[in-house]
Amino acid sequence: MKRIPEPFRIKMVENIRMTTRNEREVALKEAGYNPFLLPGDVVFIDLLTDSGTGAMSDRQWAGLMMGDEAYAGSRNYYHLCDQVKKLIGYPFTIPTHQGRGAEQILFPSLIARRRKAGADKPVFISNFHFDTTAAHVELNGAKAINVVTPKAFDTTTYYDWKGDFDLDLLNAAIAEHGAKNVAAIVTTVTCNSSGGQPISLANMKAVYDIAKKHDIPVVIDSARFCENAWFIKQREKGYADKSVKEIVKEMYKYGDMLTMSAKKDSLVNIGGLCCFRDDEDLFNEVRTRCVPMEGFVTYGGLAGRDMEALAIGLEEGMDEDYLRYRITQVEYLGERLREAGIPIQYPVGGHAVFVDAKKMLPHIPGDQFPAHALNNELFLESGIRGVEIGSLLLGRDPETGIQKPSPMELLRLTIPRRVYTNDHMDYIADAFIRLKEKAADIKGLTFTYEPPVLRHFVARLKPVM
Ligand SMILES: *Cc1c(COP(=O)(O)O)cnc(C)c1O
Repeated sequence: MKRIPEPFRIKMVENIRMTTRNEREVALKEAGYNPFLLPGDVVFIDLLTDSGTGAMSDRQWAGLMMGDEAYAGSRNYYHLCDQVKKLIGYPFTIPTHQGRGAEQILFPSLIARRRKAGADKPVFISNFHFDTTAAHVELNGAKAINVVTPKAFDTTTYYDWKGDFDLDLLNAAIAEHGAKNVAAIVTTVTCNSSGGQPISLANMKAVYDIAKKHDIPVVIDSARFCENAWFIKQREKGYADKSVKEIVKEMYKYGDMLTMSAKKDSLVNIGGLCCFRDDEDLFNEVRTRCVPMEGFVTYGGLAGRDMEALAIGLEEGMDEDYLRYRITQVEYLGERLREAGIPIQYPVGGHAVFVDAKKMLPHIPGDQFPAHALNNELFLESGIRGVEIGSLLLGRDPETGIQKPSPMELLRLTIPRRVYTNDHMDYIADAFIRLKEKAADIKGLTFTYEPPVLRHFVARLKPVM
């Protein structure tokens, strides 16, 4: 597969250090065989997440110098509002410290409105709720229902739109809970939880039509909106000649409001947004909640300079030369692994390659965390850190205390934006291909310390002998 040269020059470098295998063995043991507990300095290539790990451009860094730190009415806030209006078409903007900040100020209002109209058991329906999104739904006493296409769970069969809603499941969920109980439909672009998989415009429109028929508001969860638009341009009939900017504008017609983690496609290290198309009353109510939770309405937990970097990043994320390179780089890594016979979620999504550890390490049972074991071995082999998305993340059933069965055991290799070169991709692929030879010798893990909640972050483990 062809590699595309990086469409940027490097003006500043951050050195990374290759450690010895012995150093990595000591570090991993000290970290309780949990890569979350490794100091970043012993990691050579860090693929833990694409969130807030991207590189800002010279223009964004210049923007930082233009920060206006006025508590109220910073000029950077107005610039940010203008950019959202121009690029997305929504006139009402609230900045937040990151994506979950937008969720925490918006969701209580959506639920309260529904309760006022007679809802007794509020629910949210999404193609797939991101973890923090589901958490904010549940913290506010509602239920999160996912209705992504079942094709998303078949890693080996190609399908263009593994982020689509299954419309029958959506209709069935509305019928089961009653439209009056549906606080909102959340359209997640791209669908992070199914592997950064895109949702088509046709599906977004169909979802919006269903929502309007039942008078349900639609929230677009927008972390990777540019990558989604790029996939639409490549794959959806009738869009090849449309620009990403035009496609983005059309995507946002099929929503009433948005929440955004700007740490992904919008190319900043911290920041988020909550914006509205026409519901000024809701905007005012959510703004009021912003003040005690995030900060005054014209900064929402961000410094003025951060808002300036975001105003610029919002537009840079839509640059088509950048997107072509970005998506091709991730695809290149995926293709190299596939060529070597390593099982991955196919096609490759926008921001990460997901390796199917259940298939690669069939001798390790789910409760010994095959994807986590693979991650540890990858680190020992090469200094690369990925992240487990499987049984360890899923946890135990709170009632029975039994490990929940995970449908997938995935190792996510998440690619930060504009940070690693194509040579780094080759280094990652070569390391993985060496691991394949050793796969049968990789051992599962068992706990030495297991916290009761969010265990994957701080658990300590040891290899099963
Ligand atoms: C990252 C993310 C969020 C949460 O945003 P944070 O900036 O991490 O708080 C919400 N939804 C999706 C789809 C995400 O990827």
